[in-house]
Order: sequence, then structure tokens, then C-alpha cells
Amino acid sequence: MPDCCIIGGGIVGLSIARELAGRGATVRVVARDQDRSTSSWAAAGIFPPAPRHAGETPGETLTGWSDELHRLWARDLLDETGIDNGLVTCGGLHVAGDAARLTALDAIGASWRDRNARCELLTAAGAMEVEPGLADAVRRGVIVGGIYLPEETQIRTPRHLEAVRRSCENRGVAIMDGSDVTAIRVTDGQINGIEVTTAAGNRETVQADAYCLAAGAWSGGLAAQLDLALETKPVRGQIALLRFPRPILTRVINMGVDYLLPRPDGRLLVGSTLEDAGFDGSTTAAAIDRLRTVATTLLGDISAASLEQVWAGLRPGSSDGLPSIGRLPGCHNGFVAAGHFRAGLHQSTGTAVLIADLITGKEPTIDLAAFAPDRPRTTRDPLMPP
Ligand SMILES: Cc1cc2nc3c(=O)[nH]c(=O)nc-3n(C[C@H](O)[C@H](O)[C@H](O)COP(=O)(O)OP(=O)(O)OC[C@H]3O[C@@H](n4cnc5c(N)ncnc54)[C@H](O)[C@@H]3O)c2cc1C
Repeated sequence: MPDCCIIGGGIVGLSIARELAGRGATVRVVARDQDRSTSSWAAAGIFPPAPRHAGETPGETLTGWSDELHRLWARDLLDETGIDNGLVTCGGLHVAGDAARLTALDAIGASWRDRNARCELLTAAGAMEVEPGLADAVRRGVIVGGIYLPEETQIRTPRHLEAVRRSCENRGVAIMDGSDVTAIRVTDGQINGIEVTTAAGNRETVQADAYCLAAGAWSGGLAAQLDLALETKPVRGQIALLRFPRPILTRVINMGVDYLLPRPDGRLLVGSTLEDAGFDGSTTAAAIDRLRTVATTLLGDISAASLEQVWAGLRPGSSDGLPSIGRLPGCHNGFVAAGHFRAGLHQSTGTAVLIADLITGKEPTIDLAAFAPDRPRTTRDPLMPP
């Protein structure tokens, strides 16, 4: 089994490390940022329904397969680490504020059914029945109906990350926290070392048989050192975490790109923004105010809630909505897994298995052509939702 070095300690890098170590490889993860400054720690943890279906796109194939793997990983992670990552099929409502939006949601619902997902069109009264916490918004006419997706799922992001990290450690993965990769050395189409400044300020060269670039939004900058144009545009997302004395919702509530994600302990995530702010990962008062307004619009009086925390993360955007997963062009022992945009948590399990297959010389389970790092791109705006 090869010695592997993974650049990036977000959910993509850690999942790859876990999978490789589980196959008997020696693995080192080099990760610059601590915890919450990565996109992964910022993620809400919503998994839209992902049933397999005939004629699915490559992105749907990756998501559907990853979704199945998540169910297995959740069980295995609990066994290995004792951490329950909270993966639960809680259902999700997508609500409309006017008749035009309800018509649009009806069409979206039909396309979900075409893709084998269960989906029900709801009147305003139906929405209130599925989620009594929306009664106030229905009475005020803010919600005129919606669609209900019973298979929408949530995961407790920090718990999942902690479990994957703990599993990595149990499997012998060496994690170099606070270590910044400053240069990637290549000779004759082969990476022969990466230069790292460690948390203690020392400069070291890390060598391995195989390297995987999984540095989220920063992957493009690192790939540029290899003269590779890899698209991972940072797209900032901010979240406000409210805490209610008791749970007020049980389903994920989506309205346009905004959502309310209830946890069983009374916490409620309100998200999220989609912003082009470069590599500025800070929160802004204006965005957090807007998120509070979203919560008030959908729930009415939220004075019982306290604002427990706010945070932001930089999603690794990609203009065709697909991540780059594969061998680094022109590099025998270099691989990449980056650009998962709004679905990186969901797609992390499948991505991990695919990269581990490539590194260990196994035929990947799904066709990787659509994810090739050097594929021609369409010109979709990465700030638009997929
Ligand atoms: C607000 C928000 C909500 C989201 N909600 C969801 C959701 O509900 N469902 C979902 O599936 N996805 C969601 N996402 C998207 C998801 O978070 C990302 O797609 C995913 O986390 C990307 O993971 P990553 O490991 O590629 O990147 P990151 O988590 O950003 O990790 C990148 C890693 O690379 C390291 N790194 C960078 N540069 C260097 C360097 N020079 N040297 C060493 N290490 C380096 C960083 O320190 C970090 O460890 C959301 C994102 C945001 C911001």
C-alpha cells in the first residue's frame, strides 16, 4: 500500500484519509486551518433526497452513491468512535410565499418524482399540518403552500467531522494541524515533496508515494503552482445559530435559498448567504440581520430565542456545479478532490472511495470523466444555486 499525503483537513480530506487508512495505507493529513475556519465546519448538514434513477446526471450519481455510503459510514463511525453523527431522515418542506412560486414548486416537485423521490404538493393548511411550527406564517399569509420531501435528511456537521477525525486517528492517520503547504515540488511529472510550515513555525518537506490536493477553496491557488487551472472559487456562506428553550420545528424548512434547520435540542440553524467575498471568511452584521429576518418571517415572534453563534465558511465553487475528482493532469502521483461547492459534505463519502480507488489502483466504481480536473467548463455562475 502506498504512503499517502492529503493536503487539506476538511471533510473531503479527512474522509479520503479515513478510507485510505482503512485499506491499510499509511496516511498523513496536512491541514492549515483549525476547525471552524474551514467550509466543512460551517456546513449546515442538509442532504436533499438522492434516490438512484435511470438517466441520472454524473453529479446525481455521485450524490446518490455518497448518500448510500453515508448510511453505512454513520453506523461504522458510531461503532468505531462512539459518536452518533445525527444522520436522520427528518423530511423537508419547500414553501412558497405566493401563487407564482407555488406553481414553480409544483414543477420542481414533478421533477423530484421523475427522479424517484417522494414528493407531495401541499396547500397552506397542508404545510401547517406537516409542520405545525409554521402555523403563524400560514395565518399571516407568508406561506401559501409548498412541497414536502419526506426523504430530506440532516446530519450534525460538527459531530460527523469529529467522528471522521477520531476514526482517522484510530486507523493511524497522522494529522498535522496548523501546517501550511507553501510549495509543491514536481520533477519529471512526479510530485517529490511538499514544503510545509508547521504550527511551531518550522519548515519541513513532507514526502509520500501519492499526494491528494483536497484544500477546498484554496485548491486552485495550490494547483496554480503546478501550472494547472483548477476552479475552486470561494463562495462565502454565513449562518446564524438560534437557541430556543425547546424545539419548535422538526423538518428542514426551505424558502428559496434560505433555510431553517432544526436540531432536536432546540437549536435552529438559519442559513445561508451566497456571496462573492474573495477569501474573507468573516461574518457581517447585515447578513446576520437578514438571516434573523428570515427566521422572523417564517416563525413569527422569535424573542424566546437567543443568538448562540454566527459563522461563515468559504464553499469551493465550481462553475458547472461538479467537483474535480481525479488524477492531476501531467502528474503521475498527484490527485485532486476539490470544488464540491454546496454539496461537499454530502458527496464526501463517494469522493473518498473514488480517490482511494485511484490511489490504490482499483477501477473506480463510477465513471470519472465528468469530474476530470481539466474538463471543458460550461459558464454557469458558481454563485447560483445548483
Ligand atoms: C454556510 C455553508 C453551508 C453549507 N451547507 C452544506 C450542506 O448542508 N450540505 C453539504 O453537503 N454541503 C454544504 N456546504 C458545502 C460544504 O461545506 C463544502 O462543499 C465542503 O465542506 C468542502 O469541503 P473541503 O474539505 O473540500 O473544504 P474545506 O472544508 O474548506 O477544507 C479545506 C482544507 O484545506 C486546508 N488548506 C487550505 N489551504 C491549505 C494549505 N496551503 N496548506 C494546508 N492546508 C490547507 C484547510 O485548512 C482545510 O483543512 C456548506 C458550506 C457552507 C459555507
